Amino acid sequence: MKIQRVMVIGAGQMGAGIAQVCAMNGYDVTLHDLKEEYVEKGIKGIQKQLQRQVDKERISESDMDRFLRQIHVSTKISNAENQDIIIEAAVENMDIKKTIFAQLDEFAPDHAILATNTSSLPITEVAAETKRPEKVIGMHFMNPVPVMKLVEVIRGLATSDETFEQVKEMAESLKKTAVEVNDFPGFVANRILMPMINEAIYTVFEGVATAEDVDEVMKLGMNHPMGPLTLADFIGLDTCLYIMETLHEGFGDDKYRPCPLLRKYVKAGWLGKKAGRGFYNYST
Ligand code: NAD
Repeated sequence: MKIQRVMVIGAGQMGAGIAQVCAMNGYDVTLHDLKEEYVEKGIKGIQKQLQRQVDKERISESDMDRFLRQIHVSTKISNAENQDIIIEAAVENMDIKKTIFAQLDEFAPDHAILATNTSSLPITEVAAETKRPEKVIGMHFMNPVPVMKLVEVIRGLATSDETFEQVKEMAESLKKTAVEVNDFPGFVANRILMPMINEAIYTVFEGVATAEDVDEVMKLGMNHPMGPLTLADFIGLDTCLYIMETLHEGFGDDKYRPCPLLRKYVKAGWLGKKAGRGFYNYST
């Protein structure tokens, strides 16, 4: 089966990025969210990104129009009925993902692959909600999707070789590098990255240094392009908290306990850049 039609569930920062990259590489895309206004917001973001590329003369105005025409709006999950692959990028919450996968299994044709962009949740558990666990796989893009080259391709316990090969091929058609990873909490990327971010939050919480200074230490001292707290704001503090909780629960080890300051910020609605406020203020 050649993958041609892609549905993306969730039009937030990741879903919109995935939809953009798929449209730019010739796929027919259906971008789905709970409300039309959420999808429109996602498409507006894509338009802004593409316009920047037109301004830099990397693509033409007519390319931009063509890419945008390839993205269709959806608020009905039944639109999964004529797709070849569905990539879920809704919030990092197991109950929500399970509900979505059970619905997708009902509506998607038998040949369709069901992929999740989860940062850390077990693929095997999501797959168990469906009658096609061999066609369920993790496709973990990095943020921002149009820029970052990596896709972690995560095999659940039952994922077939055929599904893995098709998804790897698709990732490469998007000009990404696919790295094969097994299904363990946080996979590779977030098992290593997120404890570092959590520890950076602890240094602020314990008054060791300010957020600005923690970021400065990691940028100038370790040559990181961006400090961990700026990165946390970009990822979304709610997503960071969900991932730490998954690591904590999955390994049963207190070294992964989420910092109380992270919980406090999430409770306050300070979710990072997308909310206008996190460790830094983005509202001005
Ligand atoms: P986000 O908050 O920007 O967007 C989530 C979107 O999902 C929202 O538009 C929301 O309305 C929608 N949504 C929620 N429930 C839904 C449902 N039942 N059906 C359809 N849409 C629904 O979040 P994000 O940063 O784009 O993260 C999305 C997923 O990607 C998460 O699983 C996250 O862990 C993963 N991820 C995030 C990053 C990152 O850096 N932010 C990186 C890689 C993977």
